[in-house]
Amino acid sequence: MNIHEYQAKDILRSYGVPVPRGRVALTADQVERAARELGGKCVVKAQIYAGGRGKAGGVRLTSNQEEALHAAKDLFGKTLVTPQTGPDGLIVRRILVEEAVEIAREFYLSITLDRQSSRYCVIASAEGGMEIEALAEQSPEKIFIETIDPYIGLRPYQARKLALSLGLKGRLCEECVSLIMNLYRCCLDKDCSLLEINPLVVTGADWLLAMDAKINFDDNALFRHAEYPELTDYSQIDPLEITAGEFDLSYIKLKGNIGCMVNGAGLAMATLDMLAEYGGAPANFLDVGGGATKERVAEAFKIILGDPEVKGVFVNIFGGIMRCDVIAEGVISAASEVDCTLPIVVRMDGTLVEEGKRLLDESPLNVKFTHDLVEGVESIVGMVGLMQL
Ligand code: GDP
Ligand code: MN
Repeated sequence: MNIHEYQAKDILRSYGVPVPRGRVALTADQVERAARELGGKCVVKAQIYAGGRGKAGGVRLTSNQEEALHAAKDLFGKTLVTPQTGPDGLIVRRILVEEAVEIAREFYLSITLDRQSSRYCVIASAEGGMEIEALAEQSPEKIFIETIDPYIGLRPYQARKLALSLGLKGRLCEECVSLIMNLYRCCLDKDCSLLEINPLVVTGADWLLAMDAKINFDDNALFRHAEYPELTDYSQIDPLEITAGEFDLSYIKLKGNIGCMVNGAGLAMATLDMLAEYGGAPANFLDVGGGATKERVAEAFKIILGDPEVKGVFVNIFGGIMRCDVIAEGVISAASEVDCTLPIVVRMDGTLVEEGKRLLDESPLNVKFTHDLVEGVESIVGMVGLMQL
């Protein structure tokens, strides 16, 4: 789960991590007022669920409140496209106004999960700023990593090693050690899957400051944090993904034109691969889960059809826990409700498959039934057409 930079900074502040003074604003007038309160010279930062804003014009340094107002008017409602947003970009609805700070040095610092060792690791680099991905590829020796033993926890010597590798000495080094220790405490308490500060800066006045902050929470731990759902900014999430979340469906929109409804994440992945293999392009990943009801299947179908790019639907279900007649009923009721005229191919097998087939055959839908996966994939690609992504 994502949150905005200003929310991440509120959390960091509560863990004793130094962050710039700032206010979040929902209107241009609020930006102007905040800029005045902060002394005029400030940074106006678009709040979207993606980084790379600096290069996309989403971070503006302004020297007085008029300039801040001007920047805010330009940014509010604008769609920012950054390397992290995808081609459609994200719309700016909130702006963080912060005091402008003079930067002497910029570092990269983060804590994230290393999936290979299944442990948290702290990553630091003296070459912070905006190009950390490129740095990781071109000069990996400039990136320092400390892996954390979950039983022992992060040790101060590990944090000190990282601080020294950033070239920090004396008071700044010790400040950085406590900052890293505090970040780790925050990670554990808040169940973060990513906590990233890029850049962490040494200011002109020689203080450490977290100039940017990004936090992702681990979705599997959301049940431990009743307060998280209200942090969500729904303007930043695809409406179809929001609906899917309400019905407990795993849905991810993709760029193709074949809507897919599959049970089980593994089968869903295999289905996407098969479609690609036969020249088709999936419009989404959708796992309806093991024990879906007729209502959930119907909802899943409506979500697929809610995507205007979808030109045909491929249903690939193995009826183990889920009965094939239930799937068929769900598909029929959803397709009739939304007057679906698109071609549908249903590949089903397993429990009560004959009953499911009979229901589909008797329905007025434009639907083709098959037991065979390859035949199903060839049919839907044949009907929708080849598409290169
Ligand atoms: P991102 O591009 O989405 O990661 O957004 P950041 O918050 O990291 O901002 C991008 C860049 O703007 C930073 O790397 C800084 O170089 C610069 N920046 C942000 N705030 C300030 C500030 O207060 N003073 C100065 N001089 N630069 C800033
Ligand atoms: Mn940044």
